Amino acid sequence: MFYNEEFETLPRPALESLQLKRLKSTLTRVYANVPFYRQSLDKAGLSPEDVSGLEDLQKLPFTYKQDMRDSYPYGLFAVPMEEIVRIHASSGTTGKPTVVGYSRKDIDIWSELMARSFVAAGVHKGDIIHNAYGYGLFTGGLGAHYGAERLGASVIPMSGGNTKKQIMIMQDFGSTVLTCTPSYSLFMAESAREEGIDFRKLSLHVGIFGAEPWSEAMRSEIEMKLNLCAIDIYGLSEIMGPGVAIECRDAKSGLHIWEDHFIPEIINPDTGEVLAAGEQGELVITTITKEGIPLIRYRTRDITSIKYEQCSCGRTHARIARMSGRSDDMLIIRGVNVFPSQIESILMGIEGVEPHYLLIVSRKDNLDILEVQVEVDERLFSDEVKNLQALSGMIEKQIKDLLGITCKARLVEPRTIARSEGKAKRVIDNRSIG
Ligand SMILES: [Zn+2]
Repeated sequence: MFYNEEFETLPRPALESLQLKRLKSTLTRVYANVPFYRQSLDKAGLSPEDVSGLEDLQKLPFTYKQDMRDSYPYGLFAVPMEEIVRIHASSGTTGKPTVVGYSRKDIDIWSELMARSFVAAGVHKGDIIHNAYGYGLFTGGLGAHYGAERLGASVIPMSGGNTKKQIMIMQDFGSTVLTCTPSYSLFMAESAREEGIDFRKLSLHVGIFGAEPWSEAMRSEIEMKLNLCAIDIYGLSEIMGPGVAIECRDAKSGLHIWEDHFIPEIINPDTGEVLAAGEQGELVITTITKEGIPLIRYRTRDITSIKYEQCSCGRTHARIARMSGRSDDMLIIRGVNVFPSQIESILMGIEGVEPHYLLIVSRKDNLDILEVQVEVDERLFSDEVKNLQALSGMIEKQIKDLLGITCKARLVEPRTIARSEGKAKRVIDNRSIG
């Protein structure tokens, strides 16, 4: 089953000539309309005309998340604001988010790619989609919502949180499809069990899970506890949002990336060299139809590999392997992107706190738990206990207020956190994902 059979099964030569045509047109547009791209191409001594084949893509400079931050908020937009109909944003290291804008055509294509993704996951018209991705600046909720409506399924716009109500609605409304983060699905199943409700008896037949890394072991656990087929979906707001790539239900072996809209490359993250199919490296994506904020060779920092063999489902679009990590130090905690440097700058602004800390991430009852261990001034330890409690409360509150994450602050005596030579070890991730 396909949503757009013609394009999803386009023979590779036709797909590649479409990619080249769209790539050339994107380069011409960004060169004319986005000063950043004009400068970066000029600096590299290139012009859009220098790209005459897909292999020329690798001559072009990369675009980094930092470039988006430097052009905050609208500097990389390629169309005037009158043509932007939607704005989303994702969190960044500096407290300023990364901003993306969509033209009407961008929303239209996003809706189609999400509809294609739903169908690839085995969702049909007539399904009742329980959408528990967050609605708001985060792209998850609205991205899935528009795709569900485009497909013609019934969508329940739940957003995240309020787990008891989620479970009641799923039972009463007969939800057949669940969309949320994989960890939240397990949390819901646990909560239902505590309420004496058997999740396995709900009408769900498929769950579409993304926005955080998860493992095959977690897939088995979800499929067993929720009695559904668990499908991995990939996306990032910089490129579009959810629906950049998805596993097909037939093969469940890699995520089809919609190559008529995106050109994927896998590179060595240290040297920038393009790697051969099958080799593991960092995923780089070029958007070739976006109008609002087209990105050339965007460094996703996600580590994966790619394969081009045709899939048993009939789709000709390449497949990327399940994400196995990140090439930077970004953590994803309950769907929220966090860089250790963000926590560090909060800690350093607090009186009595020493510049030695350790972030310990674990997963309890299927939810991510963050513990922030930090050394404090010797004098504080000889002080009253209530002062220490007030300090840890303040750290927890500031992290919650500024980053939106709940954590447990643990104050430790000076010189108790191990020192390392070279790059300090700031994070211990005990979630065993991979
Ligand atoms: Zn397939």
